[in-house]
Amino acid sequence: MSAPEEQPPAPEVGIREFQARIEAIYLQKDSARGAMGTFAWFVEEVGELSRALRRGERKNQEEEFGDCLAWLVSLASIAGIDMARAVSKYDHGCPRCRQTPCACG
Ligand SMILES: [Zn+2]
Repeated sequence: MSAPEEQPPAPEVGIREFQARIEAIYLQKDSARGAMGTFAWFVEEVGELSRALRRGERKNQEEEFGDCLAWLVSLASIAGIDMARAVSKYDHGCPRCRQTPCACG
């Protein structure tokens, strides 16, 4: 997960801050499209990520990971889900076994 050495580190962004940023940029448009229409776009992006992973082009993969996360958090906003709260289930390790790393069989 380490970035190539020629790239400067990206500024830190928390999940709540990122969700607020995506809401400011897209929530109006995405809300008008509705949850299922926006979900279809999210799935389209997941397909693009799949292609990028198969092709192995790092720069393209980075873009597609970013797009997938943006669509996912936008979809969460439409559904009224706070992503920071949604991921807090991992605060104490694996939600099932409570271990880090996961020790589930
Ligand atoms: Zn586990």
